[in-house]
Amino acid sequence: MEVISPIDGAVFATVGEHTVADAERALATAAAAQPAWAATAAGERGRLLHRVADLIRRDRESLAELESRNTGKLLADTRREVERAADCFTYYAGWADKVLGRTIPVPGDFHTYTERVPFGVALGIIPWNVPLFFAAKKMAPALAFGNATVVKPAPETPLTAMALRDLVIEAGIDEDLVHVVVGGREVGAALVTSPDSHLVVVTGHPDTGRAIARAAADTLTPVGLELGGKSPQLVFTDADLDAAADAISLGVFATAGQMCIAGSRLLVHEQVHEPLLERLADRVTRLRVGDPFSPDSDLGPQITSAQRDKTLSFIEGAAGEGARLVGQASLPDDPRLADGYFVPPSLFDQVHPDSTLAQEEVFGPVLGITTFRDEADAVRLANHTRFGLAAGVWTSDVGRAHAISRQLRVGNVWINTYRVLSDLVPFGGFGDSGYGRENGEDAVNLYTTTRATWTSLRAGVPTLFSQARSQ
Ligand code: NAD
Repeated sequence: MEVISPIDGAVFATVGEHTVADAERALATAAAAQPAWAATAAGERGRLLHRVADLIRRDRESLAELESRNTGKLLADTRREVERAADCFTYYAGWADKVLGRTIPVPGDFHTYTERVPFGVALGIIPWNVPLFFAAKKMAPALAFGNATVVKPAPETPLTAMALRDLVIEAGIDEDLVHVVVGGREVGAALVTSPDSHLVVVTGHPDTGRAIARAAADTLTPVGLELGGKSPQLVFTDADLDAAADAISLGVFATAGQMCIAGSRLLVHEQVHEPLLERLADRVTRLRVGDPFSPDSDLGPQITSAQRDKTLSFIEGAAGEGARLVGQASLPDDPRLADGYFVPPSLFDQVHPDSTLAQEEVFGPVLGITTFRDEADAVRLANHTRFGLAAGVWTSDVGRAHAISRQLRVGNVWINTYRVLSDLVPFGGFGDSGYGRENGEDAVNLYTTTRATWTSLRAGVPTLFSQARSQ
């Protein structure tokens, strides 16, 4: 399979593509290796994960460069993502020996306790926008809690997930436990329906989530879904407009808008519409689109040519639905980038809440503005999509901030900030943004299930049964 750099549209690597038979072999090998890993002392599993984190940090620069070449994301961003991948292994290394069960005071002569036990093989299916970190985010909790892990990266961006597998093996983890399967939808679908997949955790488009949930129903394999978003930023009259404009701009234009949490719908009170619009139009027109390896660039290209075409079709279609283009950055004029997948970051005003731009996920650097009259109107508009991933609330009234937050049907709310993420904090959505939560203690619940064990404290007939018989 050819791997293309979106910076110049050139093939810069080739990788072997796995067949369905390869995928099934990977799962079977993982399933065979998993019981020994689950039986390994939890502290030892943690020690090995710490080692993976160290190796990621050792290779931070080459991983970031590879990621930038393959995704077109700024080197500054991919360096941060490599750090986050290492932190993710460190975080779950710490969790490995802290997963506890309970004893339950049942009536009768029993000692009854629960344990959190791994599922077996945890399959992670990931998209192309954050390839290394998402691979880490699927592998680290799976391994920490005693599962084997099989990760399928997007076919456009397989390289850093493959490099991560090498590091996991170098750290001393059995190679049979960790697999990266390279391929597209067909191989992904075969992985999902295999009897050797015991848990599927997907990050991707809502339609992919639906297809996988449907397929997994046949084998009754549990599924966790982190899907797309159309997240609103709500700006009230008492907001710090400069701070809001900075965060709103970064929240949708950074990484060329290719973020599930992109704050792509700006909902602003009509009284502060003009001043905020001015600030944002100024910011968007000054954005420098260019080579992600240059420190002068604010954003690079779209990661795939299909994504470039999709983003351009949103930009071209918005005016036809009544939206007004009020700010746009220029495309790079460097001839070396002429074949890259660049799009102009664009700001639209007067976006109708039912229009395509307000309802569909662009996954590119496009922000649409809609005004509201009062709090109730703001909440109504915020909840007026099928998605429910994230929202930003901008106000200096702390009571209002929390009252609004409570009414939003989303999994993540940021008050007077945006796009801050941590392995410690649960992450997930409602509706078309999926179900299940990753991160923090929720990851323990996602990657393990409960086993209850009853022990009779007296030989012979258990007390509960003898009581029942004598009644
Ligand atoms: P995608 O859904 O097309 O692909 C994601 C992965 O699923 C890829 O590895 C793909 O090969 C695989 N896949 C597709 N169909 C499959 C099937 N039927 N069975 C098994 N595997 C299948 O997503 P994309 O275009 O690579 O990425 C963009 C999407 O990802 C956006 O919708 C974005 O919002 C979403 N996303 C969500 C989050 C989140 O955490 N909520 C984060 C990043 C991206």
